[in-house]
Amino acid sequence: MTNLKESMIQLRERISAACRAANRSPESVQLLAVSKTFDATRVRAAALEGQIRFGENYLQEALDKQAQLADLALEWHFIGPVQSNKTRDLAMHFDWVHGVDRLKIAERLSSSRPLARGPLNICVQVNISAEASKSGCAPDEAPVLCRQIERLPGLRLRGLMAIPAPIAAGGHAPAPFRALRLLFERIRSEGIELDTISAGMSDDLEAAIAEGSTLVRVGSALFGTRSLK
Ligand SMILES: *Cc1c(COP(=O)(O)O)cnc(C)c1O
Repeated sequence: MTNLKESMIQLRERISAACRAANRSPESVQLLAVSKTFDATRVRAAALEGQIRFGENYLQEALDKQAQLADLALEWHFIGPVQSNKTRDLAMHFDWVHGVDRLKIAERLSSSRPLARGPLNICVQVNISAEASKSGCAPDEAPVLCRQIERLPGLRLRGLMAIPAPIAAGGHAPAPFRALRLLFERIRSEGIELDTISAGMSDDLEAAIAEGSTLVRVGSALFGTRSLK
C-alpha cells in the first residue's frame, strides 16, 4: 500500500512536470488509472489515495471489480477493443468507452444505454500509427464517424483515443501524438464539439502531454508490472 501511495505521488509529479514543460495547467490533464489485471483491493487502495477514474480492458474482470467496489463512487472507463457482443454490458456498466472505431458499435451502445445512467461518454479510437495489428479507424474516417456519433441518442461524443506505436528506446516520437492533435483540431474546426484527447501511457505520457493529451491512461507506472494475460 505504501508502494501505491509513493507511485501515485511520483506519477502526479510526472504529470505536473510534463504540464509545466508544455506550458499547460496541471488541471488540464486527467489521470485514468488502468487497473486491468489488478484486483479490487488495489483499486480500493488507489481510490483511498483520491483516484476516481479507472480504466479496464476485460469486461468480465471489470464487472467483478465493479461489484466489489459498488460502495465507492468511481468512474469506469472501458479502454479495450469493443466487440459487438459486449456492447450491451458496456452500455449498462461503464461511464466511458474509448475504443469505438465503427458506426455499428456506436449504434449498439446508443440503443443499449439505459436512460437513467445519462449519456455514455465516447472516444473514437484512431489508428494513428497505421499499424496493421491495432484497432482504430483510419484518421481520414474519424471526422465522418464523429459526425455520426454526435447524432446518436444516449451517447456523448468526447474526443479521440489512440495508442501510438511504442517509442523506440532512447527515441523521441512526437509525430503520432502531433498527428492526433491536428486531427482533433480539424474535427473541432468542422463544428463538432470535442474536449478529450485520450493518449499517453506509462512510457510516453510526457510526449502525449506535450501534444495536448487531456487524459493519460496509466497502468504499470502506478500499479507495477502486470503479469501477462
Ligand atoms: C494497458 C493499457 C494502458 C496502460 O498501459 P501502461 O503501459 O501499463 O501504462 C493504456 N491504454 C490502453 C488502451 C491499455 O490497454
